Amino acid sequence: MSAVSLQRDLEAGVERVRERITRACQRAGRDPGSVTLVAISKGQPVEAVRAAYAAGLRHFGENRIQEALPKIDAATRAGVGATWHLVGHLQSNKAKAAATTFDVIHSVDSARLLARLDGAAPAPRDVLLQVNIAAEPQKQGVAPEEVEALVEGARVAANLRLRGLMTIAPMAADPEEVRPVFRDLRALADRFALTDLSMGMTDDFEVAIEEGATLVRVGRAIFGERTT
Ligand SMILES: *Cc1c(COP(=O)(O)O)cnc(C)c1O
Repeated sequence: MSAVSLQRDLEAGVERVRERITRACQRAGRDPGSVTLVAISKGQPVEAVRAAYAAGLRHFGENRIQEALPKIDAATRAGVGATWHLVGHLQSNKAKAAATTFDVIHSVDSARLLARLDGAAPAPRDVLLQVNIAAEPQKQGVAPEEVEALVEGARVAANLRLRGLMTIAPMAADPEEVRPVFRDLRALADRFALTDLSMGMTDDFEVAIEEGATLVRVGRAIFGERTT
């Protein structure tokens, strides 16, 4: 694809997603400024990140450290001054690389990982706790009953700022089916007076916004289907 048509496609994708965010906010009586669009660039080349940045996006998310490190480095050298979010599962032994490179880590799911991140962060880092609300056996994230202990751990961590909770909803034919998952995450965050809710992806971000999402993680609706 030529650089010009890549840029045009990205601009159209970003505009469509922004319109959908605005309409979902209107339905919910929310200010669109209260929702941060995090463009999930996994599987996308650095040229696509540059084009999305030129289209106005300032938050990008990746799910794997190995793929992300060289991409973030190249994007930064190309003038992309973005906030980087880690949204995928993180092993404790990669905590240092994650804490050095990412501004926001959405996928904290153990006390051990919290401790590693706190010890490795070169500057205070924003974190969210990933919760497996729907209790799916294959999914990452802590059970809702375990959240309290992690919240306490995160609040005493000197180098971490606990921002909120994150969840990945189960796949569903109709996004309405996962509304209760988003509602439960919000109730849990309210219990601990946490302000940020990272929930909603291409197939369900509008329902997530109606239920209070402050960070939506959108890949395909911006970049198109992934080829890798
Ligand atoms: C891939 C991914 C997304 C984005 O998914 P799309 O369906 O492409 O919008 C969001 N969150 C996480 C954790 C992901 O791994």
